[in-house]
Amino acid sequence: MNIDLRSDTVTVPTPGMREAMHHAVVGDDVYKEDETVNRLEERVAAMFGKKRALFFPSGTMANQAGIKLHTRPGEALICDKYGHVHNYEGGGIAFNSGVTTTLVDGHQGMFTAAQAEAAIHPPDFYHSPKTSLITAENTTNKGGGSCWNVDELKAIRAVCEKHQLGYHLDGARLWNALVATGESPETFGHMFDTISVCLSKGLGCPVGSILVGDEAIMEDAIRVRKVLGGGMRQIGILAAAGMYALDHHLERLAEDHQKASDIASVLQSCAYVKNIVPVQTNIVIFEVNADLDANRLVNQLAENNIRISGMGEGKFRIVTHLDYTDDKHEIVLKTLKTIHS
Ligand SMILES: *Cc1c(COP(=O)(O)O)cnc(C)c1O
Repeated sequence: MNIDLRSDTVTVPTPGMREAMHHAVVGDDVYKEDETVNRLEERVAAMFGKKRALFFPSGTMANQAGIKLHTRPGEALICDKYGHVHNYEGGGIAFNSGVTTTLVDGHQGMFTAAQAEAAIHPPDFYHSPKTSLITAENTTNKGGGSCWNVDELKAIRAVCEKHQLGYHLDGARLWNALVATGESPETFGHMFDTISVCLSKGLGCPVGSILVGDEAIMEDAIRVRKVLGGGMRQIGILAAAGMYALDHHLERLAEDHQKASDIASVLQSCAYVKNIVPVQTNIVIFEVNADLDANRLVNQLAENNIRISGMGEGKFRIVTHLDYTDDKHEIVLKTLKTIHS
């Protein structure tokens, strides 16, 4: 049995999802004639209380389009030092938008409104790039799947309004935050100008992200997507997977969270573990003591067909997901207890 806990992107479509994809009604989306993707976009826009939504082939492209829509070349955006948009999108902020980042030294990928405001370059100081956007990430990936405090996000919204900045949310795992906290998508739609959400992480789709926003900004989104090479044809096949996932895979994220929490509890009792980032959703980031060689941990897990991600500096990441079944979970909990240096 192969137990892959490197990421929640390793899932394969379930039989039910494949069936839904098989029967999808499709058309040419470049003409906006694919009924299924149109329905998915309407559904997700409505969930967030936004006017429009647009399907993207990846979360990276959805974020990059969001950033492009809020900025002009030479400007700067503010994000946390752990931000996916800064660290893991191939330098796309500079490549696609000609924008620089002002990094905030936050906690678990999250920062305060005061930190955000302090990072804004004074607009009349023409030596600095003009700050035009703040981006937040919820849940935070490198921050261990942490969920933002909504009041802090609201306070940052007020900072954006005061300084006339755009406000974008990288919500690749926003679904996890919604399930973990019981917050509503509208709460987030109300705060942010644009939000990207992934269908191919916890929701288990093979492909797909969605960018939501209001009329004016989304009018340009479709052009930006085209420029980035994201104009697609009969994508109802992919949208059907998204519809299916929203019907069947959203509430069950709570199971992934429970399993991540079980894993953290076991790690807590293991002598080789130095510390664990508090677990709120489906990501467990932990650090091992210096006397346990990183390769040794990975190899001992591999002997039991368990794969996790090394993050360097003795840190590791485990991500639970749809294909991580109860019997796999039992093996993992048992195996983690047997690791030794
Ligand atoms: C996965 C992820 C994305 C999107 O990445 P893709 O690989 O392009 O789907 C964006 N932000 C965060 C926080 C992510 O974890």
